[in-house]
Amino acid sequence: MNTLLDLFDSFEELGDKTAFVNRTGVRRLTVSYRQFHLLCLKMARLLADRGVGEGDRVLLWGPNSSWWGVAYWGIIIRGAVAVPVDFMSERERAQTIHGLTEAVLAIQSRYKPDRIETASALLLEELPFLLEDLKPIEQKSKPSPADVAQLIYTSGTTGNPKGVMLTHANLVANMNQINNAVPIITPEFTFLSLLPLSHMFEQMGGFFLPLSRGAAIVYLRTLKPSAIMEALGEENISVIMSVPRLMQLLKTSVEQGLEEKHLGKVARQLLSKAEDFPPEMRRMLFWPIHHKFGRHFAVFVSGGAPLDPEVFKFWHGMGFTLLEGYGLTETSPVLAVNPIDQQRIGSVGLALPGVELQVREREILARGANVFPGYYQNEQATRDAFTEDGWFRSGDLGEIDQDGWVTIKGREKELIVTGAGINVYPEEIEAVLNKVAGVRESCVIGMDRGGGEEVHAVLLLNSGARNPDEIIAQANSSLDTLHRITGHTVWQEPEFPKTTTLKVKKFQVKEQIRKGR
Ligand code: ATP
Repeated sequence: MNTLLDLFDSFEELGDKTAFVNRTGVRRLTVSYRQFHLLCLKMARLLADRGVGEGDRVLLWGPNSSWWGVAYWGIIIRGAVAVPVDFMSERERAQTIHGLTEAVLAIQSRYKPDRIETASALLLEELPFLLEDLKPIEQKSKPSPADVAQLIYTSGTTGNPKGVMLTHANLVANMNQINNAVPIITPEFTFLSLLPLSHMFEQMGGFFLPLSRGAAIVYLRTLKPSAIMEALGEENISVIMSVPRLMQLLKTSVEQGLEEKHLGKVARQLLSKAEDFPPEMRRMLFWPIHHKFGRHFAVFVSGGAPLDPEVFKFWHGMGFTLLEGYGLTETSPVLAVNPIDQQRIGSVGLALPGVELQVREREILARGANVFPGYYQNEQATRDAFTEDGWFRSGDLGEIDQDGWVTIKGREKELIVTGAGINVYPEEIEAVLNKVAGVRESCVIGMDRGGGEEVHAVLLLNSGARNPDEIIAQANSSLDTLHRITGHTVWQEPEFPKTTTLKVKKFQVKEQIRKGR
């Protein structure tokens, strides 16, 4: 397999096998691989009729559903370049990306009334009618592996978004690397796709991977924990791509459910000992929860941010398999993953086969066929992203031990260097703060304070929480002197500004704190 077109050709052979289940509307709708294949060919025809040519950019700004997939593959078959934009983004961001990429067409959604201005547009929800009477395209494009398949703008946790160019070769390489490292997916698997398809983690883990193995993908209308739980049971979900924050929210929801059934105390006691039981026993102990999740539910994949060991233990304790991985949009995205039969809490696993990782001046560097060729029309940023000898600079600080296990300590840009010249990783301080009673969430940033940075904690507190000074004092009592919190602010808004993968936009928090000073 060399290009996404090769993957597309395999869909037809899968015939009546279910490819997608849309629980996005009033009725539950399934789409087979054969139906999907035909719809994508029709979509390519529609794009050609609308004047989209090879190499043209097409903006795709819609919610997850099989129609997103139809639009995406239509663009690829036509030989155009897909520009997926996060559905939750503000109109301005979509408009900016539309302008930067000089997109010739924008596929938008009925559910976003505030649409972008564009000379040519289609609505995702109208595709079923528009495609109905169309003939499939006869001439599929024949891209070369080095051709750019899509442009993904980074979500901007650290500053200005940049357009990551990903080639057919990049995407196919990562798909194969992951399938080799975790060779477990079969056509019987059902994936639950919750995170936005415009994000590389979901797109690779919840879209390309299942499609490469003939598995099924389920989409939901809402991401409320109750809807997720319901779908887990009813659809017999085997894999969920997740981010730590989502796993935390689901954990809270399960705990509340146990509480309502007055099982809280017993369950908590069992859970605290669950690690000592063999997996089969754990499944039996927590059968009410498993019953709710469905018999086959097996794997939770976590990436995008550090996974809290408490959250890991909670789910693992109940007999679920957790698979933590690490990567970036620029690497299509996965670089490392924990082997399924050999998990290490606190480590993001081992480099994928075909991916080389090394640490230079504490920064993780990567090389491999999945590494992007550069940022779209941004030579300076591209130059900065690679070392002189061609390694991609992840911007993450970390360690690799002699057996190859990778640990991520934090982002270079977010590292705090105190007046005493000590390096403080915000993630380590946040982990301590988040355990203090009264703290709902925390965000630790470095604030300039003549001759070094102050370790500044921004706190989101539960209602009725204690005095913040006491909270900070308690956190500091378990930190060593040189890593202590030296300033703090209570965040007055209900939430921190977040990306759709639920990461805090730290530069925005910092900006706001700076303004308030
Ligand atoms: P931007 O690059 O604009 O800041 P972003 O952070 O959302 O946006 P992504 O490519 O989505 O960009 O995220 C990649 C980053 O996520 C990595 O550089 C790393 O800092 C972090 N990350 C990914 N997986 C893990 C993990 N398992 N543990 C800790 N951090 C992780």
